[in-house]
Amino acid sequence: MSMFNKYFIDYRVFVTLLIMSTEKNIVTRMAPSPTGRFHVGGIRTAFYNYAFARKHGGKFILRIEDTDKERNQKEYEDEIYEVFKWVGMDYDEVYRQSEHLERHQEILRNLIDNGNAYEAEGAKDGSGNVIRFKNPNKEITFSDEILGDITVDTTDLGDFVIARNNQSPLYHLAVVVDDYDEGVTHVIRAQEHVANTPRQILLHEALGFTTPTYAHVPFILGPDGKKKLSKRDTNVAALDYKEQGYLPEALLNFLAFIGWNPGTEQELFSKDELVNAFNLEQVQKGPGGYNLEKLAWLNKQWLNKRTEQEFRAYIDPLFNELRDTPIYREEVMEKITPLIRERTEVLADVQTMITEGELDYYFVDPEINTEKVIWKKGTKEDTISHLEKVSEMIGSYSEDWNKEDLKSHIFPYADELGRGDVLWPLRYSLSGRDKSPDPFTLLEVLGKDTSLRRITSTINELRKNTG
Ligand code: GLU
Repeated sequence: MSMFNKYFIDYRVFVTLLIMSTEKNIVTRMAPSPTGRFHVGGIRTAFYNYAFARKHGGKFILRIEDTDKERNQKEYEDEIYEVFKWVGMDYDEVYRQSEHLERHQEILRNLIDNGNAYEAEGAKDGSGNVIRFKNPNKEITFSDEILGDITVDTTDLGDFVIARNNQSPLYHLAVVVDDYDEGVTHVIRAQEHVANTPRQILLHEALGFTTPTYAHVPFILGPDGKKKLSKRDTNVAALDYKEQGYLPEALLNFLAFIGWNPGTEQELFSKDELVNAFNLEQVQKGPGGYNLEKLAWLNKQWLNKRTEQEFRAYIDPLFNELRDTPIYREEVMEKITPLIRERTEVLADVQTMITEGELDYYFVDPEINTEKVIWKKGTKEDTISHLEKVSEMIGSYSEDWNKEDLKSHIFPYADELGRGDVLWPLRYSLSGRDKSPDPFTLLEVLGKDTSLRRITSTINELRKNTG
């Protein structure tokens, strides 16, 4: 190997290592406050942080900002962990901000000792003294990865409050110290924090900390397309979506695409595909819409990827009550599962089928309204005769009939004597409803005995009714 080659290889290794080491340094964090239910918008912000860190081989931190003792609740904190677990956002480190109180107090003392902060009156009369930051009153420009350059004259911010007293540092100070101590390189957070950023940069500078890169994510619009999405519009608590049977893949896919688009035709993205495709450059500046129909569609696409067995497990809890009754038949349930699946976008659709009685006739003989049996201008006599003929045909079948067999037999007859006149009474006798799957599907699911019993009973009803 010549000297040149040796150096050439070393040079390439060096560059690769350099790139790897700078990428490794990327550290992002999600810093939710457990003062309310974790919001779907929080999943999106967290996911952008997660994806950015994972894509660049960096580190993703979850920091619970639990310093507001009056408003914190343990259940909200637990909900955060549950949501992260549900959607599969694993974090490399987890902190609770309250654990760092001593460190925050130490920094606060330093600021006071160095003349960068001082004790002064609070905003409200009689509320006692607070600690204020001595604002250098300068212009600050930061380059937001999403919004571009932002320049603010901090004079307008005055000497803002950074602690309630010398023992109780407040949000701005705590965030700045934690981000620095945890080595956070990129602060990706909701746009409502843009206004906080100049204050935080002033603190970083006063403390001699390197300022992280900021990326402020646009907010999510409610259905009116004007206001921010709120709980007055729809469910916004992330776990509500879990309870309603949305798949985590679908929700993540949906949320990631609000205000971000990789610019391809592909719409279905797994978590890993999202991570690979994600970049901050393609996050839009303006707010993104929240389209629940899109979510339902995505849910259906992700449901389609589940096996028959998984789908069955997904809907099974809704059938707990029915399963305990004598009318329940497992073989029927097995047969109708694919039919239910075809009609299901979200679990609520299955609940609707149950509460609307759309599945009842699979388990119990329906009540027959004799007026509805007859097709349009058909007569009672013809209807009876068609039903008798069909009974005869299906009576000659063995029990292991299938839909296609039945169809090839019955359909030619219906074609000849009038499709509606033959198939409507047949379908109606089997289901007792204006809407149901086609009669061949019903015959297959119900089986020979049940089908014949229902048809015979309809014929008898028609005969009784001599009007
Ligand atoms: N704890 C803040 C919040 O929940 C977030 C702070 C930040 O991301 O800098 O809104």
